[in-house]
Amino acid sequence: MRTHDLTTVRNLGILAHVDAGKTTVTERILHRTGATHKTGEVHDGTTVTDFDPQERDRGITIFAAAVSCTWDGHRLTLIDTPGHVDFTAEVERSLRVLDGAVAVFDAVAGVEPQSETVWRQADRHGVPRIAFVNKLDRAGADLDRAVASIRARLHPAPLVVQLPIGREDGFRGVVDLVRLPSDAPDEARRRRRVLEEAVAELHPVALEEFCATGRVSAETLEKALRELTLSGDGLVVLCGAAYRDHGIEPLLDAVVAYLPSPADVPPVRADRPANPAAPVAALVFKVVATATGRLTYVRVYSGTLRKGDQVRDAGRTERIARVLRVQADRHSEVDCAVAGDIVAVAGPKAARVGATLCAPEAPVVLEPPVTADPVVSVA
Ligand code: GDP
Repeated sequence: MRTHDLTTVRNLGILAHVDAGKTTVTERILHRTGATHKTGEVHDGTTVTDFDPQERDRGITIFAAAVSCTWDGHRLTLIDTPGHVDFTAEVERSLRVLDGAVAVFDAVAGVEPQSETVWRQADRHGVPRIAFVNKLDRAGADLDRAVASIRARLHPAPLVVQLPIGREDGFRGVVDLVRLPSDAPDEARRRRRVLEEAVAELHPVALEEFCATGRVSAETLEKALRELTLSGDGLVVLCGAAYRDHGIEPLLDAVVAYLPSPADVPPVRADRPANPAAPVAALVFKVVATATGRLTYVRVYSGTLRKGDQVRDAGRTERIARVLRVQADRHSEVDCAVAGDIVAVAGPKAARVGATLCAPEAPVVLEPPVTADPVVSVA
């Protein structure tokens, strides 16, 4: 992976109604990608994304944490967004710095009221999404019903790209409908046909191929699904049971295949392109007090943020003492972060959430100032 190749970066959020399985999905992703060596369990309070003791006590994810891992040559940074309705301001804040999202649903409950709230917030921020219908192993789980509720309440064109194998307790995994295996069951072939027809209705190139050949190839389907995800005209739907590790690898593949990189989204400002050589501009989205000092989480939108740099924050000059990439419960120090990166920096003493850290010779404010935020103590 080349550090400066933006196309291999995915900054994403996992959006969900509380209890749909966001923490479990995050945990399994970190486990599968090797970012953590133990799989934390939600119920014993050892999950690695929930740093804060208050979060552990409540068993819900309250404060966003950004965690990086690697999959298929891509660096994935998961920006954890709270699912609890009391914290929608926190959700809004994290939505500002991510490029795409996975919306997680419970296969029994389908779309729940908070899922709608978060969905509308993501719509407002123009965040491209894919959906993951979780808990297919639960009694009463029904993918078709969950998809119908997504169609009725959230998106007119859900595109189901997998066939679940087995039901409820007998759920054993999924068949990929895009890259259909040669021994796929008849039902998978039938559903692949449904997917081809639905994609052809939405995408001109797929339609042309469908009319000319009577089918849509896997390559065209993949390309069309990516474009439909970026434009928001179609919603890729995957499924699984995170708890049993079913569907996690296909979900990671889908994140890489369909969700945007920082290069695919418009620059935060025309004069601050997502280019490492441009003047540096980074947005603070979280500030945390730790035992070793204050950590400021930033999204670098433009330029390169180096260890030792002096940056401006409003009228002040701050020094970047360290640049850290957060990997689950560890921080690894790096020399710099480039446009598209999400990192934590040590050094700034006063920067608040919503502040812009920028090159002194090219001052800029990326966001209008937001309400002051208390520093959250985790140590
Ligand atoms: P969050 O509130 O969205 O972060 O949800 P959690 O990840 O904390 O999950 C809520 C509950 O659902 C926990 O008890 C999990 O163990 C359980 N859970 C998560 N994923 C699955 C799954 O795939 N199948 C089943 N049966 N339970 C799950």
